Amino acid sequence: LQDNIARAQQYMQRFKEQGVLNHINGESVPAQSGATFDTISPVDLKPLASVARGGSEDIDRAVKASQEAFKTWSKTPGKERRAILIKVAEAIEARAEEIAFTECMDTGQALRFMSKAAIRGAANFRYFADKAPEAEDGLALRNDTQMNVTSKRPLGPVGVITPWNTPFMLSTWKIAPALASGCTVVHKPAEFSPMTAKLLVEIAEEAGLPKGVLNLVNGFGEDAGKALTEHKGIKAVAFVGESRTGQMIMAQAAPTLKRFHFELGGKNPVIIFDDADIERAIEAATFMIYSLNGERCTSSSRLLVQDTIYGEVTRRVADIANNVKVGHPLDPDTVVGPLIHPEHEKKVLSYFDKARAQGATIAAGGEKVGEEGCFVRPTLFTQANNDMAIAQEEIFGPVLTAIPFTDEDDALRIANDTEYGLAAYLWTNGLNRAMRLTDQLEAGMMWVNSENVRHLPAPFGGVKSSGIGRDGGDWSFDFYMETVNVSFPR
Ligand code: NAD
Repeated sequence: LQDNIARAQQYMQRFKEQGVLNHINGESVPAQSGATFDTISPVDLKPLASVARGGSEDIDRAVKASQEAFKTWSKTPGKERRAILIKVAEAIEARAEEIAFTECMDTGQALRFMSKAAIRGAANFRYFADKAPEAEDGLALRNDTQMNVTSKRPLGPVGVITPWNTPFMLSTWKIAPALASGCTVVHKPAEFSPMTAKLLVEIAEEAGLPKGVLNLVNGFGEDAGKALTEHKGIKAVAFVGESRTGQMIMAQAAPTLKRFHFELGGKNPVIIFDDADIERAIEAATFMIYSLNGERCTSSSRLLVQDTIYGEVTRRVADIANNVKVGHPLDPDTVVGPLIHPEHEKKVLSYFDKARAQGATIAAGGEKVGEEGCFVRPTLFTQANNDMAIAQEEIFGPVLTAIPFTDEDDALRIANDTEYGLAAYLWTNGLNRAMRLTDQLEAGMMWVNSENVRHLPAPFGGVKSSGIGRDGGDWSFDFYMETVNVSFPR
């Protein structure tokens, strides 16, 4: 651990000395106003670096740079874009340790997951790079009199706004397909975790990405984020964050008629029937909530268990929760690190009181760990029902609410009784039951007898208040490209 901390300090020394600057048209620049804010480490709440606090004038400069760069990047042959983006993937792999260590200190996420997330960022670049050469392809449609030729074009400069949970990986999930499509990007990362976004733009330019193609403006949602969504030079906004922020962005961007892609909150059920492989179900359900600090949009935050096995399952889940290692994010054994920020910690802790007040039982955890930093013990609520705040609101921490159900209809009713619809997990050995339920569950993504295992070509996204649009495979390209049709007489 001490060795890892020393290495992390070395990696972050430059940010300590120079701050985390914006990156516009290939140059590291402070905010034009000179304003800054501190990013703190959730391990000890000490400042890690000062960060440029961008505003509308910085966004305007970044959008102008991305408009200028769009003129050549959008015309760069797909094969050349592919070659550059593959180099970006290789450069990410070469600096994966630096990215992972920096991310651990900036977000509190444990190294065992962040080292994989950095590599996943490279995989995102590689996957979308490979699709760049064919991105403009369409098809010909003809009838007796006309020949219609459809093709695709990059949309223009786009805004990418990302949250603080696994920020590096998530931003590559948006930025890689945008660049592969021929779009240019202005990225506004989350104010709680700005460091690895700066690493990404530097790595990309060192690997050959032309200046102005990817620009970075740090700052708060209400100024830099808002200005980005309102700018008329931005053709689309790819946003990952809370549902209520999505609502604000839609209103802010309405006067300039933008395309939106929203990946928002979730309150995902994991449904366990008594005919399931209970051992595997428990292992998956606990992994999905007690890893990545529970700060994961697809986490299984509602545990719906058939009443015949509810007592046994919740006893074993409580046992697992009590044994999860909470500790320093750079300790290789740590599973749960500190939550991102004291503000977020306060929100998570508030649900312990709400649970007690509403009559739920705290079967594990339910308290802060230690005095220093934002460490919270993995928590299980039992004796809960779906009307409680702990079952309806996204807590976004290592906090699980267990609710019993009687039969299929009851499970379905409880699972769908939420404003969200991102993911659902179903555990049963009944094939017909799995078919019936997945046909009626209100979720954009479902896994049967499995935890969240991602496949990059598969669609990713939610229904209801969990999002609009899909990422992954060709769905990403549909978002960043305009489909045009030309009709000729035959
Ligand atoms: P958030 O909505 O508070 O912030 C996300 C980003 O939006 C930040 O960069 C923030 O500065 C910016 N922002 C805030 N107000 C804005 C405004 N008015 N205009 C423009 N930008 C604005 O979310 P968060 O707390 O950083 O992240 C956690 C949330 O993200 C959770 O709800 C989680 O479920 C969600 N999330 C969803 C997915 C998914 O794929 N569906 C993935 C990861 C996280």
